Amino acid sequence: MTDLSSSKLSRTLREAKLVAKGLASTSHPILAHVIPMRRCNLACGYCNEYDKTSDPVPFEEMKRRLDKLASFGTTTITISGGEPMLHPQIFDIITHIRSHGMIAGLISNGYYMTRENIEKLNQAGLEYLQISIDNVKPDKVSQKSLKVIDRYLVNLSKYAKFHININSVIGGGIQNPEDAVTVSERAVELGFGSTLGIIHDHSGQLKPLSGREEVVYQKLRRFGKKKFGWLNQFQDNLAHGRPHNWRCRAGARYLYICEDGLVHYCSQQRGYPGIPLAEYTREHIEHEFRSEKPCAKFCTIACVQQVAMLDNWRAPQEPFDIPEVFPKHAPTGDIVEDPVRAES
Ligand code: SF4
Ligand code: SF4
Repeated sequence: MTDLSSSKLSRTLREAKLVAKGLASTSHPILAHVIPMRRCNLACGYCNEYDKTSDPVPFEEMKRRLDKLASFGTTTITISGGEPMLHPQIFDIITHIRSHGMIAGLISNGYYMTRENIEKLNQAGLEYLQISIDNVKPDKVSQKSLKVIDRYLVNLSKYAKFHININSVIGGGIQNPEDAVTVSERAVELGFGSTLGIIHDHSGQLKPLSGREEVVYQKLRRFGKKKFGWLNQFQDNLAHGRPHNWRCRAGARYLYICEDGLVHYCSQQRGYPGIPLAEYTREHIEHEFRSEKPCAKFCTIACVQQVAMLDNWRAPQEPFDIPEVFPKHAPTGDIVEDPVRAES
């Protein structure tokens, strides 16, 4: 068996264990996003998740946070940013995640995927990489462009032992929705997974896709169906601006740990609960598991929705007293990670 197929088999077995463990118990987080570096080398026009000045979180502090997440029984850690590849000890962070037996993923803009870095990521034990590509050629809104990143994608197709997913996007000022089809086809050609995200504008409301965007959505929807058919009601509701009925388990089954080490519901509801991870307890997890989130109906955070699928059938939630710090509007300017998925 080649290195690549044995990595894939081991990943699949670990995913199956994740689902079994998640179904057997509701008391541990399934997925935690951690931010070791808020700084980014790019400045995408729609993004509210980066700065240009912050320092990396010291490695010793990152280790303490990962140890705490492991003590909760967390199954998957996804490292995000900013651009996490700017962190000087990114490979050590991944190694530390794997030393606890947790699944390690990374979200990156792809600009640092040289052969040398890919081999270090292999060695560290990375299991998933997601790269979002916004357009074919750079424009004022975004330089996450296929033309710029393609050579790094070729490197990844040659040297990476981990699974790679390319996310293309429509909406939010992206000028040519048709670019999403080009990006998706290139991803599949290189042997990667491919997903489509919708970027909503900053009005705080979900809006149905425009005519050209709808054509692209339908095309990729058919493409996704033909390839693997991963699509559900949530994705169609998002695309058409309809409310969705589900139970958000943020703060319990999903945790977002910012660079300051605080627990937040998600990237778009930063500020609540805002408790330091070091002080977060199983009681907080239990409380949040059962608390109904006021922003759920129009939520666009796909990874939290995917995690929730393990529990949507059980444990109904109750409303809770919404504190002043909790944003009263729907999430804004948010990126949906994968309304449509096609796999190679
Ligand atoms: S979307 Fe990603 S690459 Fe663009 S500015 Fe935000 S963090 Fe950086
Ligand atoms: S925005 Fe979505 S993921 Fe975040 S707290 Fe609200 S419902 Fe949950």
